[in-house]
Amino acid sequence: MTSLDDIDVTVLKGVGKALAETLAKLGIHSLQDLLFHLPHRYEDRTRVISMGQLRIGDVAVVEGEVMKADLVMGRRRSLQVTLKDSSGFLVMRFFHFNAAQKNQLSEGARVRCFGEVRPGRAGYEFYHPEYQVNPPPMPSQGEATLTPVYPLTEGIQQPRVRSLCQQALTYLKRYPIRDWLPASIMAQYQLPGISEAVALVHSPPANAPVHLLMEGRHPAQQRLVMEELLAHQLSLLKVRQQIQAREALPLLPTGDLPERFLDALPFRLTGAQRQVMTEIRQDLSQPLPMLRLVQGDVGSGKTVVAALAALQTIGAGAQVALMAPTEILAEQHYQNFKGWLEPLGIQLAWLSGKVKGKPREAALAAVASGEAAVIIGTHALFQGDVHFNRLALVIVDEQHRFGVHQRLALREKGVGGTLAPHQLIMTATPIPRTLAMSAYADLDTSVIDELPPGRKPIETIVIPDSRRDDVTDRVRKACMAGRQAYWVCTLVEESEALQCQAAEATAEELAERLPDLKVGLVHGRLKAAEKAEMMDRFKQGELDLLVATTVIEVGVDVPNASLIIIENPERLGLAQLHQLRGRVGRGEEASFCVLMYHPPLSQNGKARLQALRDSQDGFVIAEKDLEIRGPGEVLGTRQTGMMQFRLADFERDQGWIEPVRAMAPQLMGQPDRVDGLIRRWLGERTRYGDV
Ligand code: ADP
Ligand code: MG
Repeated sequence: MTSLDDIDVTVLKGVGKALAETLAKLGIHSLQDLLFHLPHRYEDRTRVISMGQLRIGDVAVVEGEVMKADLVMGRRRSLQVTLKDSSGFLVMRFFHFNAAQKNQLSEGARVRCFGEVRPGRAGYEFYHPEYQVNPPPMPSQGEATLTPVYPLTEGIQQPRVRSLCQQALTYLKRYPIRDWLPASIMAQYQLPGISEAVALVHSPPANAPVHLLMEGRHPAQQRLVMEELLAHQLSLLKVRQQIQAREALPLLPTGDLPERFLDALPFRLTGAQRQVMTEIRQDLSQPLPMLRLVQGDVGSGKTVVAALAALQTIGAGAQVALMAPTEILAEQHYQNFKGWLEPLGIQLAWLSGKVKGKPREAALAAVASGEAAVIIGTHALFQGDVHFNRLALVIVDEQHRFGVHQRLALREKGVGGTLAPHQLIMTATPIPRTLAMSAYADLDTSVIDELPPGRKPIETIVIPDSRRDDVTDRVRKACMAGRQAYWVCTLVEESEALQCQAAEATAEELAERLPDLKVGLVHGRLKAAEKAEMMDRFKQGELDLLVATTVIEVGVDVPNASLIIIENPERLGLAQLHQLRGRVGRGEEASFCVLMYHPPLSQNGKARLQALRDSQDGFVIAEKDLEIRGPGEVLGTRQTGMMQFRLADFERDQGWIEPVRAMAPQLMGQPDRVDGLIRRWLGERTRYGDV
């Protein structure tokens, strides 16, 4: 039977080759794709608003008579059309216009237009509004419908997408969309059928409750939201299923490498580390690829666990790749691992985007020949020219920085043939449990829920930046007493270049004000070698104070550093602050974290810094963050691109997370439904999941 999936968009009137190509950029090829290109919001154009009632920022329809239309020269030439109705005036301003438009909008013409109110020279203005001259009568209140607003790409405008969707809807009667949800689920949650839901969101009937639609809470929208969340969950489970359909090299614990490593450590593993190690050891010895996430708070000792997993792999004669999200962190892992493994006779290789020429060739050769048993680096490890000899374990540190796609790219580099590498993902816990379960549905989870003994709590102090002098003095005292300190400059949303400049300026200023101290500086724009040297000097105690951008956020480990100053903490997320603070409190000394904010703080800002002051438990802080900021922000989807939804909104729709998580495994046994749902919602993006 023909389905909407098989009907090309070119059957629609007005869709030629050029438009089809534009639509393809939106992932739209078939009529079904088009119908799943869903409005992400609505505009209420059902009522004409009196001009006298408009406020800045309103998005509204107004109607009036043209009083005058002038060409205005100003900084940019524009056409300024003044409309009036019985209550007031409004200016429509066009920077691009043609002669016909200008003639049409002449004095006395009746115009209805739709736009967003902005303040202008001549009163309130609409820039480039959609407008109609001599408009037809407005539909009566009972007939008016909301106007859907669609995601766009270059080369296509709202009205075009709207009319294409309306055309596509006419095919729905003959070719209904397959309903992949089991009837039992639809009944349980009282959800409308899929065709009905799709038709409604593209073309909401006049009697549909406006407020529900505007908020995305209409049952038709919720049906689609749930389906989308379910499709994402299924795609993760499917990735897992596909990976585990392949075999892995079973890495039986043989030899004495782990024991020799543990004997050389100056401490004993915590109970939690041992527990997690048992789980990993068990996974690795299976002929099935391990897919394990190790969550553990900052400082809980994930690196040692990673090293033990690496040793089990090396002991079985295979290779390990360890990947970290930043150059500094990767470099530090490299130094740590080198210190631990070289004495055991193990060779390591280092690779980042900045390793070029001869050193790169040498590293690649050592990896390809198997001479290097461990390769450590940044995402440069994904690159095509990296060939492994016998890769059997991939360790990814701080995976929330990577997208799921990158993680999957590495597994293609497995032992060769049909064998897939084992995967160990390590993350601090910036994600509350419920969200984590859904974001990491493809992974088994272990938690290191215990800090090494003897950790002193970090005292956190929140003060305004008007007390900068006191803070500087505190740094001086700590360093004179033999401690070391970090000073973190933040400037989010500005360019990296600006961040680095700010850090440079701060370092200069501090060096001047603290002439007794040796001040160092690290930021993202330094060469890898410079960064490594600076970090090394700080680690060796040659520098007292390290001024840094947030590049030091993750992983950096210098136990003698017991004071960290964070400027403008109000600009950072709680998880990030918690990570930064975790740079101290690693040694014997009492440690301090000074959060030096720029007043005034919002209510929200106050609550967040207070949460940080009151707790040192990453889970508690993450939960608090969730409470204060909502899940969308906490997951930081925009930055990581980890999960991008068409309709679903973690905040509004969190009620679905749990039911969807429970539902997904039950559906997995029905590949039609699973594939149908994934293709429908993730479309081209599912290709990464192909094996
Ligand atoms: P994270 O989980 O944040 O990556 P690390 O692995 O960097 O933590 O460990 C933090 C510090 O704690 C390091 O200096 C590490 O050597 C030390 N450490 C790890 N495990 C233990 C332990 N069981 N006892 C004492 N110190 C430990
Ligand atoms: Mg770490």
